[in-house]
Amino acid sequence: MTHPSFGTFFLPGPTEVRAEVLAAMLQPMMPHRGANFEALFIRLQDGLRHVFRTTRPVYVSTSSATGLMEASVRCAPAGPILSLVNGAFSERFAAIARGCGRETRVLDALLGTVHDLRDVEAALAARQHAAMTVVHSETSTGALADIAALAALAHRYGTTILVDSVTGIAGAPVETDEWQLDFVLTGSQKALALPPGLAFGVASESFLAHARAAPDRGLYFDIVEFEEYAQRNQTPNTPALSLLYAADVQLAAIRAEGIDARWMRHAAMAQATWDWTERCRANGIDIGILAPASARSPTVSAITCPPGVTGGEVVKRVADQGFVIGGGYGALKDRTFRIGHMGDHTVAGLANCLAACETALHAGR
Ligand SMILES: *Cc1c(COP(=O)(O)O)cnc(C)c1O
Repeated sequence: MTHPSFGTFFLPGPTEVRAEVLAAMLQPMMPHRGANFEALFIRLQDGLRHVFRTTRPVYVSTSSATGLMEASVRCAPAGPILSLVNGAFSERFAAIARGCGRETRVLDALLGTVHDLRDVEAALAARQHAAMTVVHSETSTGALADIAALAALAHRYGTTILVDSVTGIAGAPVETDEWQLDFVLTGSQKALALPPGLAFGVASESFLAHARAAPDRGLYFDIVEFEEYAQRNQTPNTPALSLLYAADVQLAAIRAEGIDARWMRHAAMAQATWDWTERCRANGIDIGILAPASARSPTVSAITCPPGVTGGEVVKRVADQGFVIGGGYGALKDRTFRIGHMGDHTVAGLANCLAACETALHAGR
């Protein structure tokens, strides 16, 4: 195989995929209607339920995560949607709601921050909303929303909560059942450290009941179909089998690590990143974590650039040292760079990437 080597991925997606997981994709095809596939699907369910902390089926969608974001909107109860927007991905959720013809009201919060619960409550109280969209870990800013509190708040006002936990699940604690999340989804290429191309989601019983009554659900992203097929240990359509083979190997590894240990490893990597920015500041490099200390994601950090240096310049100088990090996203393109400290990385491995970032920042002075 020949391919350009981009270096080690600390991008906030896609993330570094281990060789063992890549190799699993070389297995031969199997019919997706048959006993072998159903056995594979059952193994995937075991692993995914462990990751999502749920007893519900976990839907396996051959799509990127955006597909299940759209599915959640299409199958949500009829009525206006409240979209909490605090960055590019939460803005995308609002755009999907509008694109699906929903009356959509946006509640904005400052980039880098999360919504004040009192503002959310005021919006929920002011008018009836059928559903509320929220991004758990806003990958464009590194801000982490308190989805347990938001779910409780939404339910108090009879509102269904749709959670994009694309850079949350498998890196940040998520208790799907305990927090009564109505719909929560992720993609394969973030903290699960799989190649891109799969999305995983869970619907509550109550979400499903509403979905069954929803008109115009379409077909490819019909959650009711996903549920019916999952009950039979199948997917509605031909799945990306090679990616499922990779997921089989990776979910077994995550199971062996234990989801609690995985969350702790992510917390340690985030802390190492925050500590590193403090040390840089002490050494006269004027950088900082964009998100406030009270609401920082354990999987991704947006770091503000020193004056006179752009995110793109930092990314390029880090790439020259063999590490792939992310530039700023959307409105924060020039002002920040982003490090994805998620997936199968360790604090020790991350330290090498941070050292490269420091060299890059010194070069800019
Ligand atoms: C990456 C990401 C998405 C989009 O995922 P795709 O797999 O590209 O569709 C959505 N939301 C968040 C928070 C993300 O980080």
